[in-house]
Amino acid sequence: MAVLGYFDERFKDHDTGPHHPERPARLSAVTDGLRRFDLTEAMTPCAPRLATDDELTLVHDLAYVRAIDKFCADGGGDLDADTRVSANSAVIARLAAGAGLDAIERLQDGQADAAFMAVRPPGHHATPTRAMGFCIFNNAAVAAAALAASGQRVVIVDFDAHHGNGTSDAFYDRDDVLYVSWHQNRLYPGTGRVDEWGSGMGLGWTLNMPMPEGATGEHYRCSIEETVAPLIESHGSTWLIVSAGFDGHRQDPLTDLGLTSGDFADITSDLLQLASPGHRLVFLEGGYDLKAIAESTAATVGAMVGEHIHPEPPSSGGPGEDALAVVEILRGRFLG
Ligand SMILES: [Zn+2]
Repeated sequence: MAVLGYFDERFKDHDTGPHHPERPARLSAVTDGLRRFDLTEAMTPCAPRLATDDELTLVHDLAYVRAIDKFCADGGGDLDADTRVSANSAVIARLAAGAGLDAIERLQDGQADAAFMAVRPPGHHATPTRAMGFCIFNNAAVAAAALAASGQRVVIVDFDAHHGNGTSDAFYDRDDVLYVSWHQNRLYPGTGRVDEWGSGMGLGWTLNMPMPEGATGEHYRCSIEETVAPLIESHGSTWLIVSAGFDGHRQDPLTDLGLTSGDFADITSDLLQLASPGHRLVFLEGGYDLKAIAESTAATVGAMVGEHIHPEPPSSGGPGEDALAVVEILRGRFLG
């Protein structure tokens, strides 16, 4: 498959200070992993562009965008306990959001089957009005909102170990963007309970699958087949956006899930089947162990370009099945 790859050295200029887990070395790990598995040449390199105010405000309040611009122009600092920005972070966050927008234009132009955005800062915790959890602008949500504004139906599937509360908030009452998330139960930010189904017009357009510590890839894959694929079918989503956080890897220092790099290959491969070529975007979100990021990115991009890359074998058995059974039981009751 032809895949666009968005990489830019400027993404490393978003300075989060010493000892911050969301650090520029993460992107060096991404490129190291791709090089190690001979994937650098497998993608068409593309340069991100800046997202405009009009594009960011498809998701974020203009007052929030202005506040970020000003805070960074004044030198940056701590936006909250976790989220630190430097003077140029506002511009770099616009580039991170703009990468997906540029990719959409190229995919609609028939230039490739899919796009991978190796961006930072990540996006899925950024709400319409607030930066949090290392995120400034919600890259995946801005891309989804742009597609929805042109009449497309979108599904965002988020396998980052944390719940993408910002993405969920952005579309919670809408019936054009479906949001599906697996995440470690009760981990930061504490949202993403199984009974959060969306509201108003958006009722039934949100699906949360909180997973227990140690959950393995086999259960993720089962739920794609049994739950996610039928949901996408019934909601008519034709564009797939993956929020690919690699902090569900068993080596990640911030989380306790049981995934391996091989799981990310298989999960990505299964997810890509859920949308037609030319309708698939994959955004880097979290992931804080450098070796795990390198190998998980290679596995994921390998799945995108059609190469089977399993630096570690996929995981199976273990916890996860019961949690997904609960999701199914509650969905059955909720859907009547
Ligand atoms: Zn995360």
